[in-house]
Amino acid sequence: MNSRLCQIALLATRRATLQYRRSLPSIQRVPLRSISHSAVVNEQYLQGYKDSERFHGEYPSRTHYCGDLRASDDGKKVVLCGWAQSSRDMSQDLIFLPLRDHSGVTQLVCKGDEEIKTQIKSLSVESVICVEGIVQKRPEGMGNKKQASGQVEVEITKIYCLNPATPSLPFWPNGAQLPNEEVRLRYRYLDLRREQLQHNIRLRSLTANTVRNYLSEHGFTEIETPTLFKSTPEGAREFIVPTRKRGQFYALPQSPQQHKQMLMAAGFDRYFQIARCFRDEDLRADRQPEFTQIDLEMSFIKIADIQNIIEGMVTSIWDKALGQTLTKASFPHMTYNQAMREYGSDKPDVRFEMKIADIRQDVKDILDETTSMDCMVVKDGARGLSGGDLKAMQKSLDLTSDFAYVKVNEKNLETWPMKCGALRYSQQVGGKELNAKLGVEEGDVVMIHKRDKYLYGGNTTMGRVRLHVSQLMQGKGLLKLDEEKYKFLWVESFPLFTPDEEGKRKWQATHHPFTAPFDEDIDKLAREPSEVRGQHYDLVLNGMEIGGGSIRIHSPVMQTFILEKVLELEKYEYKRFDHLIDALGGGCPPHGGMALGFDRLMAILTDSSSIRDVIAFPKAAGGKDFVVNSPSAVTTAQLNEYGLSLSSSDS
Ligand code: ASP
Repeated sequence: MNSRLCQIALLATRRATLQYRRSLPSIQRVPLRSISHSAVVNEQYLQGYKDSERFHGEYPSRTHYCGDLRASDDGKKVVLCGWAQSSRDMSQDLIFLPLRDHSGVTQLVCKGDEEIKTQIKSLSVESVICVEGIVQKRPEGMGNKKQASGQVEVEITKIYCLNPATPSLPFWPNGAQLPNEEVRLRYRYLDLRREQLQHNIRLRSLTANTVRNYLSEHGFTEIETPTLFKSTPEGAREFIVPTRKRGQFYALPQSPQQHKQMLMAAGFDRYFQIARCFRDEDLRADRQPEFTQIDLEMSFIKIADIQNIIEGMVTSIWDKALGQTLTKASFPHMTYNQAMREYGSDKPDVRFEMKIADIRQDVKDILDETTSMDCMVVKDGARGLSGGDLKAMQKSLDLTSDFAYVKVNEKNLETWPMKCGALRYSQQVGGKELNAKLGVEEGDVVMIHKRDKYLYGGNTTMGRVRLHVSQLMQGKGLLKLDEEKYKFLWVESFPLFTPDEEGKRKWQATHHPFTAPFDEDIDKLAREPSEVRGQHYDLVLNGMEIGGGSIRIHSPVMQTFILEKVLELEKYEYKRFDHLIDALGGGCPPHGGMALGFDRLMAILTDSSSIRDVIAFPKAAGGKDFVVNSPSAVTTAQLNEYGLSLSSSDS
């Protein structure tokens, strides 16, 4: 636009603004909209709204954030904007008014000016104001060390009340007492004003930028993929989206997996996206039906290339977000089998030892070919685990007679196997030998569990016991976690297939059906799928899986074979992957990738106990959104448009 046009546009805008302002008095006189009884109940807190105190007009531009002022600013004229807190009358002529914005709190002070005093008195907490004032260094010893701007106060010369808050807010974000989470989720915009949540969401943004910068510097292209996708049997349950074409549906993507593979076929050999994913799964404590992944894919690479990129990216995140240095040694590797045998988990928490020993060879006479014996020694367990603790554990973990434990004392030091469940039937087991092998001492508790020799799934019974016991022992100060706060671990060489627990089919993909087998295991695909290892790797941090990925199948023939013959998908099901099979057959390079769960990563970086604390608008348990009150019903007319109807038992 040339400057003349700019001026005309500016004048027009000013005229419109003036007209708007002239019309304001009449707006102010309009009574509150009439609301129904139920709306009153829902919106009760809006009552008592003091609109007449609102300032309409131009207010000065902010010069500083509340948390930025320092003693060196003494004497400066400043303009601050923020949320008014509770004022405190110190005397007739001295009122303090803390003002908060995201950066901190500044103490405003009124020293006797009657007009300002009256204005302060009428301000309700959380009203949005702008103030002009003069910075004054507080007298020696009168500073507030807890506040960044605590060495100064600002004497108010003028207050503009930009938007008075209702005096009956459901809670004050700065209040000492917060209501339960449901109320805080309903009024999320208030809760988000809290310092902790402000920090979390801002750190999330910084982390997303770090990821973008790192990946862009390493030759990745950020590409968006569709949200309205198609129903394909990739693994998780999908959200289905009806359309106005009867019987035709989209599905929301459970991840951009298929699109990112097609992008490899398209020649974008380093792709990434901070992608929103949707899975309609049981909402366990810390899962969300919609979540975010840092998703990437690369062509012409090996597992180590992907792991190097991820390690570099995570190192850069730790540096920017926490100021901590990670090195190559921060990322050790372990096979799935070792993880399951020694920690009873495919995401082992290696911050503490308490490893599980396989004592099959020592008690072979009581086992058959298909079973094995796990043994775990809880050091000092006799002090840490009461009879009640152990009983409660057996109940909560649903432990059967295959599990047993014994407290080792002076008397049974060498004979304890005779008192320990199935071990008593072994003719070969020797207490002395086991003690030497496992380091058993008086005061320990020894636990055993007879399990299937074939390891599959996410954990073993002893693995769950290990975590439970570690919590109890930590609670009593008898088990200390490693000093290093963040313990990463690559877990790799997973079995490509896992027995299908629903029993519909024999096998399901351990990661997803696009994961490539180890080259040397390919000929077992048809004969013995249970022995095929997948080129699949997970990144684990402190016992939590923070990401997973794999080298993909790039042969359309092998991909079809796995879908059809091993996973036994019906024809109509595997035909839904035709787009991918075509892409693989149309000149697709060998490729692989990974996705990191962004929400979980942020929960770890911010030390939050729930991923809800790092998502601006999270869902509550059961997928409920308390802010907008969804999911919610739609009208019959809307349903009709989509050719849908509810059965009578649903309505
Ligand atoms: N799409 C996979 C997932 O969501 C990640 C990957 O294999 O890249 O778990």
